[in-house]
Amino acid sequence: MSSPVLELQGLTKSYAKLTALSNVNLSIRQGEIFALLGPNGAGKTTLIGSICGLVKKTSGRILLFGKDLDQDPVGPRYEVGLVPQEINFDPFFSVAESLHIQLGFYGRPRDEARVDEMLTALNLQNKKDTVARALSGGMRRRLLIAKALVHRPKLVFLDEPTAGVDVELRRDLWNYVRKLASEGTTIVLTTHYLEEAEELADRVGVINEGRLLLVEDKATVMRRFGEKRLVVTFEQ
Ligand code: ATP
Repeated sequence: MSSPVLELQGLTKSYAKLTALSNVNLSIRQGEIFALLGPNGAGKTTLIGSICGLVKKTSGRILLFGKDLDQDPVGPRYEVGLVPQEINFDPFFSVAESLHIQLGFYGRPRDEARVDEMLTALNLQNKKDTVARALSGGMRRRLLIAKALVHRPKLVFLDEPTAGVDVELRRDLWNYVRKLASEGTTIVLTTHYLEEAEELADRVGVINEGRLLLVEDKATVMRRFGEKRLVVTFEQ
């Protein structure tokens, strides 16, 4: 059996007196869509940040594609894409140029065909030459998603990708995530929305106060939410 795409062993992150992640153990298989569900401040962004190199873990091990990030912090991360919560890009580059620059960050050459493919997939064709600062909020989010995916990452993190987006973008994004997973891309998304986890995920993890409370297949988690047992867990 192939090794997991991602494995967390005892991942812990502390900020002074606050423990944002506490001894998290998790294994993600190739091609699955995994939803990490939890309330504000649960530790979802910290978990993603630790894996992507944006947050320095306090202890524990992170294995990406079977490689320990303590031994090789850079190589495996070239195969990862991140759609962050906050919109961050250079406002003065055009949409197409932003994607070419992103390819450059990942050591890939300019690739007009790939950029056009991403513009079509995210419905940004008409904005190809528009500077990013002139885009609407929804279009900016589409660009952020295109940027995260343009280098064909094998593992994609989406940090609350549909928070505050309109119905059309939510539907487009869900369809695109399903397509990526069917092609073998592994997806980890964080969300506050039970509905989103139910729509997309193969497995769901529930996190609160830095502790991963459970990891189950979607049907089991939905049944438990139906019984309100998880609400009780959050309130403990
Ligand atoms: P949200 O859904 O609101 O984005 P989250 O589940 O992503 O929440 P995190 O952003 O990972 O939660 O935060 C986890 C905890 O760590 C919170 O209590 C947060 O205040 C704290 N935290 C995050 N970053 C820092 C930091 N740089 N310094 C101190 N505390 C931090």
